[in-house]
Amino acid sequence: MPSKLALKLLPAVLLASILATTHGAPLGTSTSAAPYPSPTVPYASDDPNTELWGPYSDIVPQAQRGTYGATILGPQNVPLELQNPSLLAPPTTDHGTVKNAKWPFALSHNRLQTGGWARQQTGISIADMPIATGIAGVNMRLEKGAIRELHWHNAAEWAYVLKGTAQISTVTADGQNYVANVGSLWYFPSGQPHSIQATGDDSDGVEFLLVFDNGEFNENDTFLLTDWLAHVPKEVLAKNFHTSEAAFDRIPGQELYIFPGPVPSDNQQGPQSPYGTTPEPYTFDFASMKPTQHPGGTVKIADSRNFKVAKTIAVAEVTVQPGAMRELHWHPSDDEWTYFIEGSARITLFAASGNARTFDYQCGDIAYIPGSYGELSDNLDVFKDVSLNQWLALTPPELVKAHLRLSDETISQLSKVKPVVVAPQ
Ligand code: MN
Repeated sequence: MPSKLALKLLPAVLLASILATTHGAPLGTSTSAAPYPSPTVPYASDDPNTELWGPYSDIVPQAQRGTYGATILGPQNVPLELQNPSLLAPPTTDHGTVKNAKWPFALSHNRLQTGGWARQQTGISIADMPIATGIAGVNMRLEKGAIRELHWHNAAEWAYVLKGTAQISTVTADGQNYVANVGSLWYFPSGQPHSIQATGDDSDGVEFLLVFDNGEFNENDTFLLTDWLAHVPKEVLAKNFHTSEAAFDRIPGQELYIFPGPVPSDNQQGPQSPYGTTPEPYTFDFASMKPTQHPGGTVKIADSRNFKVAKTIAVAEVTVQPGAMRELHWHPSDDEWTYFIEGSARITLFAASGNARTFDYQCGDIAYIPGSYGELSDNLDVFKDVSLNQWLALTPPELVKAHLRLSDETISQLSKVKPVVVAPQ
């Protein structure tokens, strides 16, 4: 199965060398100015196509950009139109049809339980974002002590803690167990049973994101311990566990899913297994990892190179300063699922055949970018992307000039190392 991207991802291996070589790196080779044949197509528009307003602009937004469009005469949902300027008055560079690539968790149906809640974004079958065929996401909240019950599912689960601490437990098919408190990342392979419980570290309990490496994943369709036992005849239970039927007199008659529980002790250990504990931890202290600094922001990456059990989902936590941008790039094979923790951003997806569409995102929103789509923003097993800037810098300059008619000066400014995050002009 191809690896999947979560949040924002960047090439970890290259990051260390980027900072070491950016300053004083050899510039692109310049070439003599040879005359070119006349253009066969018109030049691209000079319109800078900036964003026309933001979520907090004190205006009534209109469907107008320059001389294009007209005012709206019918009713308007102004807050939504303020949040989505690139849909109402798109850049003229947008073209054709690109599937919706924005899903705010604020539009997800929420499942309220005693002790917490869960809301999800899924792909094809439930279709809140049909483009999201490879990755699904869940936002979950557990009050202090509350438990997301023992369960399993046929997708790998990767988690990012937004606030608080959870205690997780898991047992492998080989009988090894693992129990730990986690304040940043965890990962469970597909099919491996596990539980999540809010600790008492934060009086509010815990809230986290869950990311699954299957767009068809449905949080309401997982295999729950209580649901299973409630649907097994008592006679079979007694036989399986070598007990009386009465031993199961008090099991729930239906699933619990999320329910209140006693706050677990901080140093809770699993029972000693004859097969030992798992050789690698299922948690990763991402919060303590030092970010790599770039001129326009910072990047941290956790993938199977440092978070060994995370074989199918990798993450980059990217901070892009106001006005800076994640450089133009694409991911060769992996889809990207991005969650915005703070601030707002604009992303243009380039879908080939002249098709491109721009979306605006606020914190709490999800962006989805299929593998290979060119992006001008941004985020697997091992993080991998292709930089437009580096691609052009490492291509024969005459070939680049024949395509784009760039000046020698512009060619000489191409970067042979990935800029990753680009500072404002
Ligand atoms: Mn799970």
